[in-house]
Parts: sequence; C-alpha cells; structure tokens
Amino acid sequence: MTSNIAHRIVQLKRDRKAILLAHNYQPPHIQDLADITGDSLELSREAANTDAEVIVFCGVEFMAETAAILNPNKTVLLPRLDAGCPMADMITAADVAAVRAQHPGVPIVTYVNSTATVKAESTVCCTSANSIQVVESFRDSDTVYMAPDQNLAKYTARHTKKKVLHWEGYCPIHHHLTVEEVRAQQEAHPEAIFLAHPECPPEILDLAHEVTSTSGMIRFVKESSRKSFIIGTERGILYSMKKMNPHKEFYGASPRMVCADMAKTSLEDVLRALETLEPRIQVPEEVRIRALKAVEMMLRISS
Ligand code: SF4
Repeated sequence: MTSNIAHRIVQLKRDRKAILLAHNYQPPHIQDLADITGDSLELSREAANTDAEVIVFCGVEFMAETAAILNPNKTVLLPRLDAGCPMADMITAADVAAVRAQHPGVPIVTYVNSTATVKAESTVCCTSANSIQVVESFRDSDTVYMAPDQNLAKYTARHTKKKVLHWEGYCPIHHHLTVEEVRAQQEAHPEAIFLAHPECPPEILDLAHEVTSTSGMIRFVKESSRKSFIIGTERGILYSMKKMNPHKEFYGASPRMVCADMAKTSLEDVLRALETLEPRIQVPEEVRIRALKAVEMMLRISS
C-alpha cells in the first residue's frame, strides 16, 4: 500500500513538474521520497534554482511561506495546512511594529522561523547559522532587537559586543530540554560528544561541545572523526544523520524532542497535494516584496 502511494507520488511529481522538499525534521518516509532535504532556507533557495513549476514543501507553514517569498512564479503546496509553528505564532506583525515604535532606529533582526507578515515588518532576517554575522553587520548601531526566539538572541549576544534586546518567544521542543536529560545521556554514552542547536537555553549550550544549526550539525557529524554523538535538536534529524553516516551512532538528547507539527505530514497528504494542487500557500504581493527585502538583505550579508 505504502509503496503504491510512493509510486504514484513519483509519477505525479513528474507529470506536475514538481519538486518535493523535506525539512530535516520530517518523518523518515517523507525524507526518503524527497528530492532535497535540508533546512528551510536552504530548501527554498535550492527550489529557486530548479525548473520545477510546483514546490511541495514538507515542513511547516512558515517554511512554505519562505518558499513562496523566494519563488513567486511557482506553485507552493503545504501538504498539511495545519502544520504550524508555535514559536512563529508567538509574535505578530503588530508586535514588531510596537517594538519598532518603542526602540526607534534599532534594527529588528528576525529569525527565518517567523511568518511572512512578521518578516515584512523586520529590518533583516537571520538563520541560526548566520545570526552573529547579521547582528555584527549593523556597524552604526550598538543595539539590535532579535525576534522571536529568546534563546537564539541570548546565544548571539554571547558572541557580539552589541546589546541584544529580544522578544520572549521560544521553540517548545528546544526550550524545554533539561540539563538533567542531557547529563543522563552523557553518562549513558560517555564517548559521545554533545551537539546543541542555538534554540536551546543557555544552560544547555554550556554543556555542548559544539553549538550549531541543523545544517551545521549534519556537516559536523560527517566531517568529524568521532564515532558517536548526542544530538540536541528535533529527533527527525537522527534519521538523516544515520542514513548518511551508517557507521556512526546518534542519540537524541531527549525522547521529548519531537515536533508534533513536523510529524503531521503523511504520504497520503503528499499524494493528495499533488493530485489537487492544494493546499496552496500564497503570500500577498505587498507582504512578499517587503519580506523578500529582509531575506535578501540577510543573503547579501551572509554570502
Ligand atoms: S521544531 Fe520548533 S521551531 Fe521548528 S517547527 Fe517545531 S516548534 Fe517550530
């Protein structure tokens, strides 16, 4: 049954001139069928360089919006319209406008894990891989404001002399990882080194051998001569890591690091999206242009 669905998806992908993108946190059966797996921005940028007419984004809504911002002439589908992001929903465009009014002249650096309307209100975007570089680029400002993730802001603040104000948002999956959970894994696997995502709180980052983004983690484990790793991010990434490095061992930092929204996408959802070309993610042009400006400014800084 599953292989029938997978076969039909492959056929329809060809007929529709579609590309299937899967975030690193997606379930294994989705990652296995994807044309490209990666982090959200990486995927959206790669999609722009293909001749695909349809992008099927297996991830959450803000990621499909980013794909729509960068690919205005392609049809962007999100197989599960109810796959949202609690962190992205912790701030609105009106909140960003209020921050700007409260801190006139202070650049607002917004994590790509945010809605299109929030990006449109921001000065510039950043990722977990380039936040320090983006913040440092404001040579004439001693202060910046980061949103929505407080932990990415605190991590960035550790690596810059600038004052980093921040919104109080957080990713529940990373924010609730505890020191006790990490220590228990370190005791169970003393040979393993611990990699943490900057969305984790500072006391977790203090325990890490390496703090890096999802793409950074994938690169690190591939290039490292070490054989085992404790991974402090969403557990979906363990599957891609093991697939790419079958002779290395990977342990999740906690069994609780599962994003329910990321786990929603099924093969049936992907098939239905390809059959109906729905649900389609569209960003109003006026919002898209302003959000694109914030994304492009980040790309110029970090290129
Ligand atoms: S893992 Fe966190 S940031 Fe990513 S989609 Fe889930 S809630 Fe949002």
